[in-house]
Amino acid sequence: PTAAPPLTKRVLLAAPRGYCAGVDRAVVTVEKALELYGAPVYVRKQIVHNTYVVQSLEAKGAVFVEETEEVPEGATVVFSAHGVAPTVHEEARARGLRAIDATCPLVTKVHLEARRFAADDYDILLIGHEGHEEVVGTTGEAPAHITLVDGPDAVDDLVVRDPSRVAWLSQTTLSVDETLETVRRLRTKLPLLMDPPSDDICYATQNRQVAVKEIAAQCELVVVVGSRNSSNSVRLVEVALESGARASHLVDGAGELDEAWLAGVSTVGVTSGASVPEVLVRDVVAWLAERGYADVEEVVSAEETLLFALPVELRKDLKAAQ
Ligand code: SF4
Repeated sequence: PTAAPPLTKRVLLAAPRGYCAGVDRAVVTVEKALELYGAPVYVRKQIVHNTYVVQSLEAKGAVFVEETEEVPEGATVVFSAHGVAPTVHEEARARGLRAIDATCPLVTKVHLEARRFAADDYDILLIGHEGHEEVVGTTGEAPAHITLVDGPDAVDDLVVRDPSRVAWLSQTTLSVDETLETVRRLRTKLPLLMDPPSDDICYATQNRQVAVKEIAAQCELVVVVGSRNSSNSVRLVEVALESGARASHLVDGAGELDEAWLAGVSTVGVTSGASVPEVLVRDVVAWLAERGYADVEEVVSAEETLLFALPVELRKDLKAAQ
């Protein structure tokens, strides 16, 4: 018998991956606030769901808190990219805080949709994950009108006031395919269900899922760089597995990679969630190269050019400081 040919080892790097426009804006907001007002700058919740980003900003003088009441009166507070309920703005005003709102404009768009449907007295079915900060914030816009639908299986038990006045909205970072399934089931139950005026799942979430689908079927292993509380990163692992990858793991960085995952693996896919700095991906690619996976091909499925202006309250002070 002849020996098995040596394994061809390669890496397929999904693109787009990593930072989206909303994360970039939120991180730069905290950095600029630190430059402008000096440390400490308080940040309510993790500015974005990434451990490395949070630790880097802490090292520069950001102080992360869970609730506005932990911020000393008169101090500066930044609200995270995931958005906040109107009550949080009120609390900040009552404490005399200088509040800077780093909510992603694409989350704000969903808040505005919720307000509009609620003003028209619709019941709103918000598809999302229970307890996620974005869902808590959006629900706060119209608590009496919003019911959470956490996936397709939650549809059966739903009760609405009037089946002819009901609309659905969603969290921005869900699985596109699973959400389509949830909506399909909702519409079977509620044929007059109104759609949101435009997609709530954001361009970055969609593009990263399409990109990982492109490579997954060719990969025995897909490594997703992202933190465990990052919704869109966790979805990338699920999409990779559904799209043909034999295995997929979420890692915060190269330090969490495990050599045992590479047994019999010829092609490793690599991608990262929307809150992940590229340096963490480079570390993973370097780790793989040291183990013989030095042939790296980037598979590009879309170009992203979107950029958001910084929050208006910060822009005003930046201008005044010039
Ligand atoms: Fe905004 Fe989407 Fe990025 Fe969330 S993932 S911050 S909604 S662009």
